[in-house]
Amino acid sequence: MAINRPRGTNDFLPEDTAKWQAVEELLRGMCRSYGFQEIRTPIFEDTDLFCRGVGATTDIVTKEMYTFEDHGGRSVTLRPENTASACRAFLENKLYGLVQPTKLYYIGPMFRYEKPQAGRFRQFHQFGLEIFGTSAPAADAEIIAFAWDLYQRLGIQGLVLKLNSVGCPKCRAAYRKALQDYFHPHLETLCGSCRDRFERNPLRILDCKSEICQGIGADAPKIQDYLCEDCAGHFEKVQNLLHAAEIPFVIDPHMVRGLDYYTKTAFEIQAGAIGAQSAVCGGGRYDGLIQEIGGDPTPGVGFALGIERIFAALQAQGDDIEVSQDLNVYILVAGGVEASAAAFRLADQLRRAELSVEMDYADKSFKAQMKAANRLGAAMAVIIGDDEVKSGCATVKDMESGEQCSLPFTEIKQYILER
Ligand code: ATP
Ligand code: MG
Repeated sequence: MAINRPRGTNDFLPEDTAKWQAVEELLRGMCRSYGFQEIRTPIFEDTDLFCRGVGATTDIVTKEMYTFEDHGGRSVTLRPENTASACRAFLENKLYGLVQPTKLYYIGPMFRYEKPQAGRFRQFHQFGLEIFGTSAPAADAEIIAFAWDLYQRLGIQGLVLKLNSVGCPKCRAAYRKALQDYFHPHLETLCGSCRDRFERNPLRILDCKSEICQGIGADAPKIQDYLCEDCAGHFEKVQNLLHAAEIPFVIDPHMVRGLDYYTKTAFEIQAGAIGAQSAVCGGGRYDGLIQEIGGDPTPGVGFALGIERIFAALQAQGDDIEVSQDLNVYILVAGGVEASAAAFRLADQLRRAELSVEMDYADKSFKAQMKAANRLGAAMAVIIGDDEVKSGCATVKDMESGEQCSLPFTEIKQYILER
């Protein structure tokens, strides 16, 4: 019986990978402009890192991790996200000893045991940014601006940037109390998970997916009314910077992150066209995270975006990433061993000059070679036969205009490079 790929994973075939590479190049180029450098951490980590760094009560840790024991009896987990690993690497490699802030980006596969569906996979790919070592509102605004810039460059339409502040542990205590007072009379009506959340983490009731809980939550107190002076000032500065860069946003007072290490800014970007899996990007500030995984208190802010959802959003609006894979040169051989050798030598010289070159391996007919040159979209063809080898020249043909000339082998490279 044939073996298929695991559920929720994808094979990316050459026509896909060309588009992925184009997106990756766009991201890497933007990172150069915005001053982020790449970090690559292991695909698996000590399970504890994610329990602490993602949060032991989150869906990711309770239901979605690929955790197993290795042959040494250690519990390891395929990374479900990359922020915890970036924090660990920041500490383990003492990056805090360098000039701060530290601005990092990552790109790669993440693993979550979720119900596979359109836009939701078990192995998916994230790109993300992290800025460690500054609590400045400009850092929050910068990463939001990056994400916004990216989606504009990709031409994704119908984007909504939702912004909120979740305060800090200090102001959250009063808010938590206010939420409990508000939800208490509705306790019987809330869904089972929210009845749990009521004691443990009432903020999370606000982002429950159930319609009933959302209905009850609609008039719940808003965190803005509870922010301390520091958090309120920070929130205002982030908004002012977004205004300055003409980045439109809506404040969503019920977009929360329930864990203590999330602080101040929270944001999400949604692309309307892709339906249920509409979140293309999410992030915010987590001034308590590095301490949570064992470091000295260090502020941090970051986001992660799903690369598959970029393609889903483009597809939903009938667009695609344009990639040109057209060939520069096809070399046709119309002769014996010597012509083949001359063709091989020329192909080698042209490729060293960074031209893309194809030729036939298998003594195909001249007609079949010409067909291949057309199919591959070759801009130029070079025809080498026995006579050409003798005279030291080859025929060079412009495939679009049909114009052709005979040139000495030694001049072909220069001629093609100039075209
Ligand atoms: P969702 O609400 O869609 O489950 P999330 O809150 O779990 O998203 P994050 O952990 O913030 O998402 O991850 C950031 C981004 O990664 C998401 O906005 C989304 O674009 C993408 N993403 C998350 N989970 C998946 C998945 N299983 N398959 C594909 N992309 C995903
Ligand atoms: Mg999720």
